Amino acid sequence: MEKTYTIGTRSFVLDQAKAESAFAAKRVINGRQVPYFNILPLKYGWAYDLYKKMKANHWEPEDISMQKDVEQWRDAALVGDNERWIVMMGIGYFSAAEGIVGDNVLHVVRELVTAPELKLVLGRHAHEENIHADSLLYMISSLGINPHECEAMFEQIETISRKNDFVSRTSNSLRRDLDLTDPVNKQLLAKNIFVFGQCMEGTQFYGLFGMILSLYRQGKFPGIGQMFRYTLRDESNHIELFRNLFMDLVEENPEIWTPEFRQQLRDLMAEAVELEKEFIRDCLPINAVGLSAAEFERYIDYIADRRLTGLGLDPINPGTENPFPWLAELMDMKKEQNFFEGRVTEYQKTSSLGSVNDDDL
Ligand code: FE
Ligand code: MN
Repeated sequence: MEKTYTIGTRSFVLDQAKAESAFAAKRVINGRQVPYFNILPLKYGWAYDLYKKMKANHWEPEDISMQKDVEQWRDAALVGDNERWIVMMGIGYFSAAEGIVGDNVLHVVRELVTAPELKLVLGRHAHEENIHADSLLYMISSLGINPHECEAMFEQIETISRKNDFVSRTSNSLRRDLDLTDPVNKQLLAKNIFVFGQCMEGTQFYGLFGMILSLYRQGKFPGIGQMFRYTLRDESNHIELFRNLFMDLVEENPEIWTPEFRQQLRDLMAEAVELEKEFIRDCLPINAVGLSAAEFERYIDYIADRRLTGLGLDPINPGTENPFPWLAELMDMKKEQNFFEGRVTEYQKTSSLGSVNDDDL
């Protein structure tokens, strides 16, 4: 079918069949590769919806006051060394981790997917990792922490570097020319998407999220707690993005979904959980401030199984219950719209204040 536009003396013929074949050639991988960015017609509607939702959640670190945090940080009578250590570990780990996630999104996943709407939402994902990295910079400079110490933590705290090595392994193996029609390479990419979305952002981020929000609940470091709540809301969208991407990749390439492959994914999650538990024990060497490492370890078992079942994989510890039901309340920001001050609310006024996705907690 052709359509002709006649403008003055000139006419232009547009071929509907060409547009339709371009749409039909949209794929997660191995689709039509063009250097331009025609998002319409949408094939992956979820990606565009998520992009809009992520944009509506925009926040800037400087909108959150660090004044109380600074007072508490400087006064040993207000918060003790155990609390300060949790914050140090949070800053040390996330300073490294946010950059690793953003880099993998841009240089591995966004490079390899072919549909423009997927590249669009992945660009927003990478930008949110920049915001998270910037929020850590803001915490470090407000509290007056020596930035070299953060670098040192990344390199010298073994439980941090082991978590980072675990994810970097699956990222580095994809940074070369890959024949993505080979099922082995398709599985490598699927593993990368699984490890970053479900094991790292989906599970290994949650030990510290839980600890820092526990402190927040006790009135300790309210500015840091608030920034972590925003970060967590973003991460919840990243987990969903990578879950949808994973499921569409598998649906379009069903040959990779073998029993052996499913077992490999569960083994990767089990490894991620072990690394996270060792890390939690470093964050909470003694049971202080009402937090116990054992409870946080159980929380990680619970979260990891939700990630696995979310992808149709069998849980590792079926029946594990959430030891922190209050955490779900605190992570649900819908109830507290009036709590927000200033510009943060204004960024969100055009659309629903996206809360954490129900499945994520
Ligand atoms: Fe992040
Ligand atoms: Mn993220």
